[in-house]
Amino acid sequence: MSGPVVVALDVGGTGMKCALVRPDGTVLHEERHPTLAARGPEAVTENILEIAAGLAARAENPIAVGIAVPGVIDEENGVAVWSSNVGFRDVPLRKLLTDRLGLPAALGHDVRVGGLAEARLGAGRGQRYVLFVAIGTGIAAALVVDGKTYGGAHGAAGELGHIVVRPGGTPCPCGARGCLEAVTSARSIGRRYAEISGNPEATAFDVVGRLDQDPAARQVWQEAVDALADGLLTAQALYDVDVLVLGGGLAEAGEALLEPLRGELEKRLTFHRMPRIVKAELGDTAGCKGAALLALDHLEKA
Ligand SMILES: [Zn+2]
Repeated sequence: MSGPVVVALDVGGTGMKCALVRPDGTVLHEERHPTLAARGPEAVTENILEIAAGLAARAENPIAVGIAVPGVIDEENGVAVWSSNVGFRDVPLRKLLTDRLGLPAALGHDVRVGGLAEARLGAGRGQRYVLFVAIGTGIAAALVVDGKTYGGAHGAAGELGHIVVRPGGTPCPCGARGCLEAVTSARSIGRRYAEISGNPEATAFDVVGRLDQDPAARQVWQEAVDALADGLLTAQALYDVDVLVLGGGLAEAGEALLEPLRGELEKRLTFHRMPRIVKAELGDTAGCKGAALLALDHLEKA
């Protein structure tokens, strides 16, 4: 593996995707490891450092490390401020990685780096204003302008899932009611279908699979698409983007999601311009590619 490579890690609540990525985004090597969050934040951190060091050792010319983590991230200082599903509280990951590997490091928010990768290498390439929306267990978004992400004053920008679209509606884990995430996340869709169909095992996947034969599935899907269109209407009013890139598990529904969503958003827009709505292209390597891009950006700045 000659030529410079970046060590990239995308840490999730259950698993970590790890890769060696070339500056042009080519993935040279991939590994997956369990996060083992139940063992506590110190053990998770040690595990991350160990895996990153192992990856760096495989590469002939590692030039930087990029890591993506969920939760609230202070990208400027390289600190994982708060991450409920990994258990991090104020973990100075960037410094720990630099100390262990002797390489410059960058820490980013998982959805923001995913958005960065989609905007620069994936479905948003060539566009200046891109909003990446990840819809899975939860919903979050990342605004990318001219290839740079926008993290907000407290590292918490892009919480599209907690826009209230149904005031007084279903309780959301955040404490509010009627958040977009409480209607349109994969988990919420599955739960709603379970309620209506009487099958407690029902999932969002079942809803998509039964759109042709089950009116209840169609109803749940329509509710989810309507709420998403309401949330995206707000997003478009705020950001006026060229393209909305939909990623995460729910986007795998493809045109079954995109087509009705385009229609519903178009109906709601008054003077705002309709963005293109497309499916993400990079799949689950977006996090690693984005973490690598972030690390390279930091190198350039340094
Ligand atoms: Zn909420």
